[in-house]
Amino acid sequence: MANLNNLFDLTKLCNEKNATLVAVSKTKPIEALQKVYNAGQRIFGENKVFEMVEKQEALPKDIKWHFIGHLQRNKVKHIIPFVDLIHGVDSERLAVEINKRAKAIDKNVRILLQMHIATESSKFGFSKEEITALLEDKALQKLENVEICGVMGMATFTDDKQQVAQEFQHLQSIFERLKANYFAEQESFKEISMGMTNDYDLALANGSTMIRVGSAIFGSRN
Ligand SMILES: *Cc1c(COP(=O)(O)O)cnc(C)c1O
Repeated sequence: MANLNNLFDLTKLCNEKNATLVAVSKTKPIEALQKVYNAGQRIFGENKVFEMVEKQEALPKDIKWHFIGHLQRNKVKHIIPFVDLIHGVDSERLAVEINKRAKAIDKNVRILLQMHIATESSKFGFSKEEITALLEDKALQKLENVEICGVMGMATFTDDKQQVAQEFQHLQSIFERLKANYFAEQESFKEISMGMTNDYDLALANGSTMIRVGSAIFGSRN
């Protein structure tokens, strides 16, 4: 079950570093989330649409729900009414669909651009070239009901800390370049979502503003 000591340590660490803690509660039962909520946590991350909808309906309404997984376009509409931040936007078509569904209910939806920083080919995300081409074309900036708040990435699954640190530095440099070239006037473009249970310390040391931590708070998943 939930490890509240780890939650408190992570909360303190994030306060010191001016970062946001997303408690990744995927696969965990409602009671576990309620316990972590009762201990003060308000931001939860989920990676399955219907699981998130179900939990949102059952839990207190002041929770901020972050969608952290791969989002299919045909499921976007289910989370738009309540989602606080969508981390994994990795295609123009997905951003267009989010914009359409947000517009339909007159809402602005905050998103992060997922960047491919790992060496593994299985991880989702834009390449530097892809995102540059889209932003040069203003393809994403013109989506009026979408607010692009920064970038998100996942490092390679490896014990090589130096490699992981390099990948986080790479994401930070991408963020700085996008900020300077396309979002200099937009204050809300400020988030670098990187770091999980095994690498949040390295992520925070390399510019992360938002860590997504699951197992350290909720225990390991099956
Ligand atoms: C599951 C998941 C996490 C949390 O992973 P832990 O190793 O349990 O901290 C973070 N980010 C994403 C995108 C995830 O899918």
